[in-house]
Amino acid sequence: MKAVAVIPGKPDSVHLCEVPQPRLSDQPHPHVCHVAEGRAVLVKSLQIGVDATDREINEALYGNAPPGGQHLVIGHECFGQVVEVGSKVIELQPGDYVSCTVRRPGGSLFDKIGRNDITSEEVYYERGINLCHGYLTEYFVDDAEYMVKVPVRLKHLGVLSEPASVCAKAIEQAYLAQQRLQVWNPKLAFVCGAGQIGLLATMMLRLRGLEVYTLATKPGPHLKSEIATAYGATYVSTKQESMSELVRRVGRPDIIFEATGNAEVCFRSMESLNLNGALIWTSITGGNQPVTIDAAKINLEWVLGNKLLVASVNGNRRHFELGLQALSHGEAMYPGTTERILTHPVNGLQNYREMMRLLVEDKDALKVFVNV
Ligand code: BGC
Ligand code: ZN
Repeated sequence: MKAVAVIPGKPDSVHLCEVPQPRLSDQPHPHVCHVAEGRAVLVKSLQIGVDATDREINEALYGNAPPGGQHLVIGHECFGQVVEVGSKVIELQPGDYVSCTVRRPGGSLFDKIGRNDITSEEVYYERGINLCHGYLTEYFVDDAEYMVKVPVRLKHLGVLSEPASVCAKAIEQAYLAQQRLQVWNPKLAFVCGAGQIGLLATMMLRLRGLEVYTLATKPGPHLKSEIATAYGATYVSTKQESMSELVRRVGRPDIIFEATGNAEVCFRSMESLNLNGALIWTSITGGNQPVTIDAAKINLEWVLGNKLLVASVNGNRRHFELGLQALSHGEAMYPGTTERILTHPVNGLQNYREMMRLLVEDKDALKVFVNV
């Protein structure tokens, strides 16, 4: 069967390759973990999403092949349909729609209790990213443990399961950490970035009843500003009003959700957070970007204001479930809005060049995904 792979370490090596079609009895990542007897699920890929991580893996900024091989099949955002299940799988059956988590457990205590999303080991195993093959293939096999059922009525948004899990987890982490305050009733949030993560975070914070300002560079109106507005948020172009000007107009936000991929925004936003507020970092900033900030002022304000920084990555199956719940709640509150994120379908794995071109060149592409 066809698969889209890279040679990690070699820039722009994305290519189509032939790999054996997996069988239910296969062990997809024997160097990390084993699928327990009877617990495997064979899935036919329907739609696989790609994001900046796939672009940066193709730029050879990170990513590693499974041991013993040269190539890494990419793609970590999957949506598919169950074809066959092992004898001990009771939670899924052929025909069900599913997504599958990204990270597989290493050896730390967190991995052992199902919290591989917060492993304390340096090396992490992630399908399509690091040391495990990904989902840009026609079929894949994994343990039912990592499969998450997508409701039939949400199948049009199934390919957003993974990005939604990342947002849902990051927001939940902030709320969990804020229990330190005993009473916290955030009212105002800024979301930095209006890519898929920024927009999904906008929706999830609106669903929690916050007043939300979604900040990105490009002046609206355009699709991103329309989606933010449809979620009941206010879109702000930082070319027209900087974050500090916005603070002067509407006050300091209790939550800042950072999803720009820009290291300067990550640190600069520290200047705007409200007392007792939470800054959530979700960007993965590759490369180098030295930034000059007034560190003494920030430290003073952060200590005197008891402020919190939460960094969050990845999602385990419970976060996928939370993400899917939010997508479904979002459909009820803002019908038809979230599917507007699905801007750039690419038909067939053989069009992988077009897929990568869109990721690199098209700044308006909110979501590039392959209809396998
Ligand atoms: C993925 C996460 C992953 C992270 C780090 C992101 O693009 O969505 O699941 O943990 O990259 O590799
Ligand atoms: Zn990702």
